[in-house]
Amino acid sequence: MKLTVVGCSGSYPGPQAPCSCYLVEADGVRILLDLGSGALGALQHHTDLGAVDAVVLSHLHADHCLDLCGYFVYRNYHPEGRLPLLPVYGPQGTADRLARAYDIPGEPGLTEAFDFRTVTPGVFEVGPFRITAGHVNHPVESFAFRIEADGRTLTYSGDTADSDTLVDLARDSDLLLCEASFVDGRDTYPDVHLNGREAGEHADRAGTRRLVLTHIPPWTDGERNLADARKAYAGPAELARSGAVYEL
Ligand SMILES: [Zn+2]
Ligand SMILES: [Zn+2]
Repeated sequence: MKLTVVGCSGSYPGPQAPCSCYLVEADGVRILLDLGSGALGALQHHTDLGAVDAVVLSHLHADHCLDLCGYFVYRNYHPEGRLPLLPVYGPQGTADRLARAYDIPGEPGLTEAFDFRTVTPGVFEVGPFRITAGHVNHPVESFAFRIEADGRTLTYSGDTADSDTLVDLARDSDLLLCEASFVDGRDTYPDVHLNGREAGEHADRAGTRRLVLTHIPPWTDGERNLADARKAYAGPAELARSGAVYEL
C-alpha cells in the first residue's frame, strides 16, 4: 500500500500545501481520502485525474470536500467525453452538500459524474481496500477510517477531538495519519480538534508503528506540535508534507 500526501494544510490552504487530500494505492487501484480546497491542482503531480477509482470523504467541511466541484467539471465535461461514474463515499447528505456548493439544482446535482454512497459506521470494500469507518468527535458527522490492503494498515483520523473510536480504529496500524490542528494550551475549544500532545497520546494508546501529523493550519508552528506529540509517543513521528510518499 502506498500513501501520497497531496494536501495536508488544516482548515485553509497554505503556501506550500493545499487542504486535506491523500492518494492511497494498492494493486493498481487508486482512492482519494478527502479532496479539500486546492487539492485538485496538486493531485495532478501524482496521478492522471482520470485514473482515480473512488473518493472517500471523512466529512463535509470545505477543507475536505470542496474540490469535488472542480473535479465534477473534469469528469463531466472532459473534451474527450464524460468519464465513467466515480464512486464517492461520504456522510449522509454528501450529494446535496456538493450540489449546493456547485450551485446546481439537487436533481441531478453532480450525479452524472459521481455515484454517491453513504458511509455508516462499519466496513465497506473498495477494490483491494477493506475500509472500517467509525464516528469521531467533530461538530459535524465525521469519520475516521482504518484502511487495510496487502496485509498493511493505514488509519486516517479525519478531523476529530479526543476519540476512543480513533484509538480502536488505529490499533496496531502501520501508520496513523492523525490530525493535530490545535496547539496545546492555546486552542481550547472542546470537541473540535486534537493538539500535538493528544495526537501522540492517541498513537501511543493505539500502539501504532508510525505517526504522521497532519491538518496543521498555516498559522501554527508544526514543529511545536510535533515536539508535543513526541513527548507522548515513543515511535517514529513526523509532519506530513505535500508530496511525501509512504510505502507501507
Ligand atoms: Zn478540516
Ligand atoms: Zn472539519
